[in-house]
Amino acid sequence: MRIPGYDRSQGLAGMLGGRGLIILAIIVGLVFWWFTNQKQGITGRSQMLTSSIEDENRMGLEAYMQILSEEPVMCSRGATSCAMDDTREVERIRAIGRRLQEAAAAWEAEGAAMSVEGKTEGSLPSWGALTNTFNWQFNVIDADTPNAFALPGGFVAIYSGILPVAANDDGLAAVMSHEIGHALARHGGERMSQGQIMSFGQLAIGLAVGDMGYDTQRMVMGAFGLGAELGVLKPFSRAHESEADIIGLELLVRACFDPREAPRLWRRMAELGDGARPPEFLSTHPDPEARAAVFEKLMPTAIAAYEKHCGRKLT
Ligand SMILES: [Zn+2]
Repeated sequence: MRIPGYDRSQGLAGMLGGRGLIILAIIVGLVFWWFTNQKQGITGRSQMLTSSIEDENRMGLEAYMQILSEEPVMCSRGATSCAMDDTREVERIRAIGRRLQEAAAAWEAEGAAMSVEGKTEGSLPSWGALTNTFNWQFNVIDADTPNAFALPGGFVAIYSGILPVAANDDGLAAVMSHEIGHALARHGGERMSQGQIMSFGQLAIGLAVGDMGYDTQRMVMGAFGLGAELGVLKPFSRAHESEADIIGLELLVRACFDPREAPRLWRRMAELGDGARPPEFLSTHPDPEARAAVFEKLMPTAIAAYEKHCGRKLT
């Protein structure tokens, strides 16, 4: 099909004409914005954050309330009765969460040295104290999916379906500390900031090509969207998982849970197979086997850090 006013031989640049310059200016502007909003994260990695901690925590709370109102929360505040066994289970999970919460606060106060990597010098994140802005909450959702999450603001939920995979307190602590790792590293805020820059870019380019033919617009927007997806969002998703893993391992050690349970947990997760694994632990993320291998490599330093911090040997 021939698109009026479009000569195929000229390619995308020719098709855009002078507008190529406007689009180039938009992209340069976005890259500039990207670099001016860089902050140093908890692991020393640079992150683009345009949102404030208060905004992130508020959105975390809103999302948490929404989810809890739709899901069957075990022994929720509004529940008229709660079976004895359920009470005990929820209390067990909350106690694990509190230990991790306290470890996170103490770690942050100390200056965030990553002891499981054998580091002795801290790199306090450039945004300062985060844990005391959190309104930590731990709830259990009665559902078969093996899932868990922690939202900005310290809003944690465990799905009962993950309990068999978690197997024991240390395994469950490994799940929860990974999720808390996402919240402490402000991955939610980073994703929001990336989403903001992407949609602003798409809007701006949309305006620049707004009076062109539909097919041309689609081609330009498609090229921008695909670049963003492959070049930015996917790699970040992987980086976030690895970062949450390492922060989670640090929290395990600092809360005196057995760090060796982390690789064991991922091996059990691998055995579940792709079909049974929840999205948080799927596809774009490093596969569980690779994850377990990374943990095993870190284990000698993690065990040494545990023994030093907790004053007891792991046998
Ligand atoms: Zn994760």
